[in-house]
Amino acid sequence: MYSLYGGIEQLSIKLKEELQKLPNVQVCLDSPATRLEFGEKVKVHVKVQSKPSVLEVDHVVCAIPSKALQKLIEQPIEELTFNPSVDVAVVNFAFDKKVLPYAAFGYLVPRSVSDSIALGVVFDSCSFPLATPNHEILTVMMGGHQFPSRIGDSATITNDELLFKARQVLGQQLKIQDVPVAHQVTLQHQCIPQYLVNHPRRMQKLHRTIENQFKSKLSVTGASYTGVAINDCILYSGKLADQLLSKGILGSDPYPSPVTGLELYETLS
Ligand SMILES: Cc1cc2nc3c(=O)[nH]c(=O)nc-3n(C[C@H](O)[C@H](O)[C@H](O)COP(=O)(O)OP(=O)(O)OC[C@H]3O[C@@H](n4cnc5c(N)ncnc54)[C@H](O)[C@@H]3O)c2cc1C
Repeated sequence: MYSLYGGIEQLSIKLKEELQKLPNVQVCLDSPATRLEFGEKVKVHVKVQSKPSVLEVDHVVCAIPSKALQKLIEQPIEELTFNPSVDVAVVNFAFDKKVLPYAAFGYLVPRSVSDSIALGVVFDSCSFPLATPNHEILTVMMGGHQFPSRIGDSATITNDELLFKARQVLGQQLKIQDVPVAHQVTLQHQCIPQYLVNHPRRMQKLHRTIENQFKSKLSVTGASYTGVAINDCILYSGKLADQLLSKGILGSDPYPSPVTGLELYETLS
């Protein structure tokens, strides 16, 4: 396990800082892409400070969720919208005394435990004791595909209700009845894709569709495709960058071959 002072967003903050130092890089924040048009060049329609603007580029690396990519292009591609995305509620607790009955990473609740509200509980202070030497920190994760059946309507549920449910989890599963000195509730809507059975086969089909329909003009990366963990996102984005430089449109080859970002699925047994 690893952790970063300031949180995992330090990764993207640092990436932005380093990219902005380069003379040939322009970073546009708060500028959502609204449409992609594929022709001789790719026209990327974006909203910069609420005003429409069009960038003309040779190649697009699309790192947004696949459902969001589908909204940008005309042709329907089933593989982009096949997997559902789910809501997850995260409640962090701080206690100023020892409350944990075990020293461990925490635990994940198997699907077969049908009466658990929680997906799992992480014992953060066991993995990173130096970060908060005087407190025990726990994170309760709830929801996923079970959100509607076990938690409620994510559109209307309040933070107080989520806090109540998370404290129920601590009471029932860990026998912790103590009052935390601090807590934080975060509800993330549609924040993580849930791969359905045969995901690799669908990604293989998507790889071929991108190769055939978008030639060397589009690659994809991120949690919708090659694994949802941050490690996977970074690993496969790095491989994509390497391939674009060695055999794709960004390299020196006058006849670059398509690089889709889904080469992992090229040969499935
Ligand atoms: C509660 C929770 C806990 C997790 N814990 C862990 C963990 O402990 N370890 C781990 O490895 N992983 C964890 N994950 C998974 C991991 O955080 C994510 O899968 C990963 O961050 C996905 O990265 P991404 O860049 O592919 O997608 P995202 O982080 O979803 O980024 C996609 C970005 O695209 C932007 N976007 C969307 N549409 C457009 C558009 N039209 N134009 C421009 N931008 C657009 C969005 O605003 C967003 O910023 C967790 C996920 C959740 C929800």
